[in-house]
Amino acid sequence: RGQLLVSVIAVGVTLSIPTPAVEGDNYPVTEPGAALLWMTIAGIAGFTISELVRQREKLAVSLEMIARTDSLTGLPNRRAWDEALERELARADRTGAPICAALLDLDHFKEFNDLNGHQAGDEHLTATAQTWRKRLRTADLIARYGGEEFAVLFTATAMPRAREVVESLRDSVPQRETVSAGIAEWDRSESGAELVARADQALYEAKRTGRDRAVAMPAP
Ligand code: GH3
Ligand code: MG
Ligand code: MG
Repeated sequence: RGQLLVSVIAVGVTLSIPTPAVEGDNYPVTEPGAALLWMTIAGIAGFTISELVRQREKLAVSLEMIARTDSLTGLPNRRAWDEALERELARADRTGAPICAALLDLDHFKEFNDLNGHQAGDEHLTATAQTWRKRLRTADLIARYGGEEFAVLFTATAMPRAREVVESLRDSVPQRETVSAGIAEWDRSESGAELVARADQALYEAKRTGRDRAVAMPAP
């Protein structure tokens, strides 16, 4: 704003200098003083524009980040998950590597909130997210899929290993709260949505059969 103000004042000063008619002998551009002023104005205007563009780019980067991050846990959100899933399935298709998706849902979390308060519920979600993030490889993706539901993508990993890691995640939940999980291995032809739907069916099965367990979906 300061730069804009200086620009405007500079323009005003220039325009207030008496300028003879264009066709006159003393066309202002030929006068060193006027030329200098115009150059200054051009410099300031150019600098201002480049500064605005730079700020706009910075803003776009941080907006991009905000749009893909869950504000409570700091994990990637559902939108980031959906994008990464398509990208990773395409990569697995190219490389021939296996890939598994898991959905993990905290058991009876409504009760946890009712008992400890919503604030404690929020803290529990955040602590769980941080604990899990630390236990996973950087190549794996963990996202907050919904309220008390997390999604994990195990890249270059087949079912037996994915299952082991899911069990270790379940074991590491703070305050010994229990978690149910559903896991599915990509069948190499289904879409990302179909893969997640199969993990969700397995999660449903884990809930239905008593919670506090992981169920692996057999390949279709
Ligand atoms: P289930 O074992 O079947 O999964 O039972 P549940 O109680 O965990 O599942 P339900 O879907 O009935 O309730 C989900 C609860 O999760 C209720 C909701 O208030 C809580 N929840 C969702 N998001 C948040 C959040 O961001 N913070 C807190 N504190 N609670 C949340
Ligand atoms: Mg739940
Ligand atoms: Mg749920």
